[in-house]
Amino acid sequence: MEAREMGFSDEQKMIWKSCRDFVDGVIIPFIRENREREWLAPPDERLPLKLLEAADELGLRTLGVPERFGGMPFEEGTQAQTLALIAEEIGRGDSGFADKLVQNWKVSVLLSAYAPEHLLEEIFPRFMADPAFLMAHALTEPKGASDRWLPYNVPEANMDTRAVQDGNEWVLNGRKHFISNGYDASLYIVYANTNPSVGISDGTSSFIVLKEMKGFSVARANETIGCRYMNNGEIVLEDCRVPQDHLLVKDEALKKAAIYFNPGKILQAAKNLGVGMAALEDTEAYVQQHIQGGKPLIQHQIIAAHLADMTVKLEAVRAMVYRAARALDQGASDAGQQCLMVKVFASETVMEVAQMAMELHGGMGAMLEAGIEKIFRDASIFLHMDGTNDIHRFKIIRARFPETAGAYAG
Ligand SMILES: Cc1cc2nc3c(=O)[nH]c(=O)nc-3n(C[C@H](O)[C@H](O)[C@H](O)COP(=O)(O)OP(=O)(O)OC[C@H]3O[C@@H](n4cnc5c(N)ncnc54)[C@H](O)[C@@H]3O)c2cc1C
Repeated sequence: MEAREMGFSDEQKMIWKSCRDFVDGVIIPFIRENREREWLAPPDERLPLKLLEAADELGLRTLGVPERFGGMPFEEGTQAQTLALIAEEIGRGDSGFADKLVQNWKVSVLLSAYAPEHLLEEIFPRFMADPAFLMAHALTEPKGASDRWLPYNVPEANMDTRAVQDGNEWVLNGRKHFISNGYDASLYIVYANTNPSVGISDGTSSFIVLKEMKGFSVARANETIGCRYMNNGEIVLEDCRVPQDHLLVKDEALKKAAIYFNPGKILQAAKNLGVGMAALEDTEAYVQQHIQGGKPLIQHQIIAAHLADMTVKLEAVRAMVYRAARALDQGASDAGQQCLMVKVFASETVMEVAQMAMELHGGMGAMLEAGIEKIFRDASIFLHMDGTNDIHRFKIIRARFPETAGAYAG
């Protein structure tokens, strides 16, 4: 048994193995055979449905759906750790693809917690039946998103997207950008201001918006430098009429969305660890094949030392990811702080690892055909996802010194 297998149950090891087999047997061969596709293909043609179908067969597309609707149950007290195992493996295959699945999980968790039963009975069977059905979580708009993460709870920081009640409907107007799955989702959770006289924490509501609703449209794909299979997108709501029962959370939607924040950070950090592992594995293979100075690169001391540094850094990220996941599963009092810290450390450390991977590939590291530049691009994305690292730094210090830390805005 390797150290990384320690502490996991037989069921977790089984899930882990099936994810590993899926990544090694399906995702990595696809990525290798289609090196230029994620960069050059238009968003409609980017991700083949067969990948979503394959993930669906393993239950990975529908994580977060309650068991009664066919979702995958987790053993008591292991959810965050199992999600981390899954995210690490899928991230090792492709980070953008992992993001697609993470968004489905996030929205499923919010729906399960807050949507009325009759809507769950409509939405989840539809979602379960169609592997092309994706979900998206639409908070960010052109006016800075960091105010939401802090939060900066004053009226001046309110969202520009507004929702006004009109009889049995809500009328939504606004624009959301940078939304993962935003280009091709079927269902969106959209956040909108419902009370301009109070701050964002008390006057923001969330709504279930289906792509076929009148007044909803996708303006464009936001073409990202990495994680491109997630098809990030910008959406527009123009007098979009949403039935009364599609109001998910009234006024306190940002506070209540916090149920996904901590496990969400574990998922993202674990996914990023997977990106780092992909960088390491590709580099390990390269330095054993590529000859320089009359011998394989690995036999040059400096290369071996760099490879060792990459390994050490990823072990440190792994230790931190699973410690934070265990803290969350076991209800540790500082679990939230652990999750904030792992987001910062994982994103910055994996970025360093990916940079070294580029360096050890020489000029080949910059070529689309080698794939290492894609890993570098993918690694760069996590710095800004789910809130910037600097905002996380503020939150770490606020968690440690709630009485004396600053508000950091206003
Ligand atoms: C690939 C990708 C996927 C994403 N997916 C989604 C998604 O699915 N759904 C969604 O809603 N959003 C999504 N986002 C948006 C993401 O959450 C935001 O980009 C992020 O929170 C930062 O917000 P912003 O871009 O508005 O930057 P800003 O908030 O404008 O920040 C700009 C800079 O100012 C700094 N800053 C901000 N406020 C302060 C302050 N008070 N003090 C000091 N410094 C400050 C920030 O740290 C940052 O360096 C995604 C973003 C990316 C890149």
